[in-house]
Amino acid sequence: MRLLIMGPQGVGKGTQAALLAEHFNIPTISTGDIFRYNIKNKTELGLEAMSYTDKGELVPDSLTNKIVKDRLAKEDCKNGWILDGYPRNAAQVTEMLADLDTPLDHVVALEAARDVLLERMKKRAAEQGRADDTPEAIAKRLETYEKETAPLLDIYEARGLLVVVNGVGDIDEISGRIISHLE
Ligand code: AMP
Repeated sequence: MRLLIMGPQGVGKGTQAALLAEHFNIPTISTGDIFRYNIKNKTELGLEAMSYTDKGELVPDSLTNKIVKDRLAKEDCKNGWILDGYPRNAAQVTEMLADLDTPLDHVVALEAARDVLLERMKKRAAEQGRADDTPEAIAKRLETYEKETAPLLDIYEARGLLVVVNGVGDIDEISGRIISHLE
């Protein structure tokens, strides 16, 4: 099973990706997590990425595409994967298609109203203290999502891959909704 999970920040992509990964026994690949790991460990990649992530801006495509390409080539990706947070703009879609010799099975788009997203982000900021959960960075990320990422859903819809799921409700109920669409 090869899946993308898409949706705005705060919609619960990470939580649902983890549940789907368990259900289908495939790894989750979160570009955000990869950047955070590298930032925490002060690697060269982390230092470069931090100047963008802190402001809620996208890390340059050349860097991001390479990370994903390397990760998908690993042994544990042979039977499938879930990509969380990638692709995020048209250039990443193109790159991904060029590199993948295995096609996508589905693209799951989680939806929630903006006030729900802002409320969840506020809660996460208080709980986790992520460096990019400042009000400015949150606003910037939502804006970037609307402008650069949301239009990608049309591409996947046209290819018949898109599954749109309501992201509001109980966590298990939402994963049940997703799985029933995929099976
Ligand atoms: P996330 O945890 O997915 O919200 O990602 C956190 C931050 O990492 C984003 O605000 C971006 O700065 C960066 N990032 C994650 N995924 C990507 C991507 N596909 N392209 C560019 N930047 C990304």
